[in-house]
Amino acid sequence: MAPVTAAEDPETLAFETTVRDGGNEVVLEETYFYPEGGGQPADRGTLGGLTVLDVQQRGDDVVHVVDGTLEAGETVHGAIDPDFRRYCMRAHTASHVLYGAGRRLFDELGYGGFGITPEKVRVDFSTPTDIDDETLVELERLVNRCVWDSRDVTWSRQPQAEALDRDDVAFNTKTEEGLTDETVRIVEIDGWDAAACGGTHVSNTQEIGPVTVLGRSNPGEGLTRVEFAVGPEGIDRRAAEKAAALDAAETLGTAPTDLPEAVGRLREEREAVAAERDALRERILDASVADIAAERFERDGRTWAAGVVDADANALAERVRDRPEGIEVLVLATPSGQLAVGTGEGCDAGDVVATLTDRFGGGGGGSSEVAQAGGLDADGSTVVDSLRDD
Ligand SMILES: [Zn+2]
Repeated sequence: MAPVTAAEDPETLAFETTVRDGGNEVVLEETYFYPEGGGQPADRGTLGGLTVLDVQQRGDDVVHVVDGTLEAGETVHGAIDPDFRRYCMRAHTASHVLYGAGRRLFDELGYGGFGITPEKVRVDFSTPTDIDDETLVELERLVNRCVWDSRDVTWSRQPQAEALDRDDVAFNTKTEEGLTDETVRIVEIDGWDAAACGGTHVSNTQEIGPVTVLGRSNPGEGLTRVEFAVGPEGIDRRAAEKAAALDAAETLGTAPTDLPEAVGRLREEREAVAAERDALRERILDASVADIAAERFERDGRTWAAGVVDADANALAERVRDRPEGIEVLVLATPSGQLAVGTGEGCDAGDVVATLTDRFGGGGGGSSEVAQAGGLDADGSTVVDSLRDD
């Protein structure tokens, strides 16, 4: 595969050339358009006034798909969309900077893949290291530090055997990016990273501008995908996160950097309040059951107590299991008509539930000591009153 001219000379964005193969899939004598490859999208722009829809490498040819036709032999003007190309150069170089930062943080690092879209860039790290939030923040900090340090970015072809021997060069073994028959193209960020790559890059890291890590995911076994943004997308994300942090800090009356501590305190307070609330509910329930037990009545030759309490079904079941002294049958109902029945020796709680569901509908069951019912067509007080009145 022939070297891509755009990668060698990424600053030439306008040129005159002759059409070699005409039609709507045009091959030129010479081109500075970047054909899609190695995770970098095709350049946008115009050719002879026609919009370039796609650029692909086919064998040694770079094919430009245009929205019209051009004649073979025609002299045409090529104009590459400068904003999109510049974005790709920055994004692509940023991915090398990110990989270089990964070298400093991760164990047994390998290159798992890379891709640029207009909104974001992804780099797949092959590493056993667990990339947690703290590591992600450190990764972003190192990347922006490298941008600020204004390191030179250079590219050159090296004999393949020599390059493959170098331990410090990252290769994408899946696509063998940058490899041709005899040589490999090495992109180096001075003192930071070296990688085999055929894409377009800026010539100094300061041209990248701010880099914002967006998040991470796991696309496969042993791989961690880190997504980031350069340019407006990244700047906007940062502004949104900062606004959210300031907003939360103001609500809690603290500074953004003290938020973790403030939120931790809040969580502890919430847990303490919830525990206090649960204890109070228990006491209220105890008092209600004691009141109900005081109103005991005789039925079928046994001592019963029945009443309505506002508690959940599980709490009711617990209470009927521990019946107050002297109560042989205890029926507790929620206001909406859920029932729990607890009985002593010689009396079956399931039979009591069956009698009540026969009369009021719904269903239930349980053991001979404790049974429950729900879905009755009557509310709690109706069911309880029926037991006293019969
Ligand atoms: Zn590259």
